[in-house]
Amino acid sequence: MAIKKILRYGEPSLRVPSKEVHKVSAKVKAIVADLYDTMYANNGVGLAAPQIGENVRIFVVDCSSGDEPLNPITFINPKIIKKSGACKSHEGCLSFPEAYTDVRRYANIMVKATDIHGRPFVMEVKNGELLARAIQHEFDHLDGILFIDHSINRFEADEVLSKYNLPPVEVDKLLSEPELDELLKEQAEKGAVND
Ligand code: ZN
Repeated sequence: MAIKKILRYGEPSLRVPSKEVHKVSAKVKAIVADLYDTMYANNGVGLAAPQIGENVRIFVVDCSSGDEPLNPITFINPKIIKKSGACKSHEGCLSFPEAYTDVRRYANIMVKATDIHGRPFVMEVKNGELLARAIQHEFDHLDGILFIDHSINRFEADEVLSKYNLPPVEVDKLLSEPELDELLKEQAEKGAVND
């Protein structure tokens, strides 16, 4: 299909919640093909439809690396039905070229979605694997939530954003995640004892 322009942070439509897909139509299949073409062309591990200007609930991921075979996974109308544990995730986003910062994520998730053939599937990913973190990151895009909203240190995030000429953190969008904070704190304390 086509490599699309990826919208950058600051573009208002990245903050707009996306609409459910009612049918895996030719148009939906074309959006999925564009997502893969655009993601692979930019060496991304995931891309959500709103990032290419389509506010519909679709994202794709491929967490394969190096010589591994490609592992494209398409999520239509995804729902995260279970989440537990916490992990620190060093993330970037194709809408934030070159800017990486540490964010809070769940370590284990179970997600339900529809595939490109219109068939439902359930997937469970554990232990803070890249795939678990990528799914949470892409899922958020469908609700207008961006990875920096989960920043562990917003001042550090601001520094990185300004370094790459991106707008600052939107303070009113920052998420309060006491459950994840508590779990991360416990892990840090355990880590300190083990060291
Ligand atoms: Zn992203």
